[in-house]
Amino acid sequence: MLAVMDTLSKQGIIIVGNGLAGSLLAWSLLQQGKKVHVYADNQACASRVAAGLINPVTGQRFVLAEHTPAMLVFAKKFYQNIEKKLGIQCFHEKPMFRLFSSQKEQENCKKRLKNKEYSTFLGKLSPHQQLNAEHGGITQHHAAWLDTNTLLDALSQYLEKNNMITYRQYETQSTQQTTIYCEGYRMIHNPLFSQLPLQPAHGEIITCNTNNNLPNAIINKGKWLLPINKNTCRVGATFDTKITRPCLLETSKQQLLAFAEDVFHEPYNFKVTQHQAGIRPTTLDKQPFIGFHPKYKNIAIFNGFGSRGSLLIPWYSQSFSQTLINNNPVPKEASIHRFKNLVW
Ligand SMILES: Cc1cc2nc3c(=O)[nH]c(=O)nc-3n(C[C@H](O)[C@H](O)[C@H](O)COP(=O)(O)OP(=O)(O)OC[C@H]3O[C@@H](n4cnc5c(N)ncnc54)[C@H](O)[C@@H]3O)c2cc1C
Repeated sequence: MLAVMDTLSKQGIIIVGNGLAGSLLAWSLLQQGKKVHVYADNQACASRVAAGLINPVTGQRFVLAEHTPAMLVFAKKFYQNIEKKLGIQCFHEKPMFRLFSSQKEQENCKKRLKNKEYSTFLGKLSPHQQLNAEHGGITQHHAAWLDTNTLLDALSQYLEKNNMITYRQYETQSTQQTTIYCEGYRMIHNPLFSQLPLQPAHGEIITCNTNNNLPNAIINKGKWLLPINKNTCRVGATFDTKITRPCLLETSKQQLLAFAEDVFHEPYNFKVTQHQAGIRPTTLDKQPFIGFHPKYKNIAIFNGFGSRGSLLIPWYSQSFSQTLINNNPVPKEASIHRFKNLVW
């Protein structure tokens, strides 16, 4: 037992999971001079499926959520810093053409255009000629996509080189060692945190090729099409809270393919080259789960980033690092202590 404790203390802060949450929290802590050790079993990782889209203004009502402008500036700097230090390119800015699904949506957008706060993010009405937009559309600025696989591969290699990662499932070993659980939707199997109100959401994405030239912009009409290069795009995503394990459904593939074809006036004859599925760690109130376990002062969770991990995780990694290093409070909206009635 003493030998185990000794090894653990040499490892510094234990991080369980190496999706975006675990990997970016580890990176933040390392940048601030802390020791970490990551445990990762590479099973059902949503971050490896995600398109990594960052879209500041979302939904049918075109909402710019609180803190989004600051989070966006922070995320860009954060990813660019990793790019520079690890010699990769993973953060890609790209305009987004938002096509209105209905007249109502167009009206909602017009209302937002009168609001100064939105002027940085919403451009001109009327998008690209190639596109099938019966209700019109608008260009959205400051959208981007994160190449999550390039980023996570580089971060894993960095941790491997420095002996800071072990590839195996982490079983709870000690409540004395600072341990941060970043297990994505699999937190539902962790008795320490399974009482938190997670609402896992299954999602599927396809990758397609076409001989036609794709526009150099993300197309968003509820679902989205993300051109990776001139002839390849990713198309997504489905959203289903009833499916509890990643699985590939033929109906989803056909639905996404039909969406892609419907985006353009001309037939694009897309060929599906890949079909992937994952489970988003979505929460009932759409806010993350961050903070220390009420009973065990060394055990914490960093999870619940839902459909917006690429934007939220850099911001909250920085903030939670400051909790771990300087005891700063966890932001109220993300703290697990907002669930006052839970029995732990
Ligand atoms: C189809 C789809 C599309 C998406 N599109 C976008 C998008 O466009 N933009 C966006 O921002 N987000 C998107 N997301 C959401 C995004 O994937 C998440 O917000 C984010 O990746 C969550 O990261 P995470 O690290 O919390 O979880 P995960 O990525 O699921 O990582 C959890 C990791 O923990 C490991 N693990 C779990 N338990 C243990 C254990 N006991 N021991 C060791 N390892 C363990 C798992 O193996 C896994 O690697 C999408 C998700 C899906 C499924």
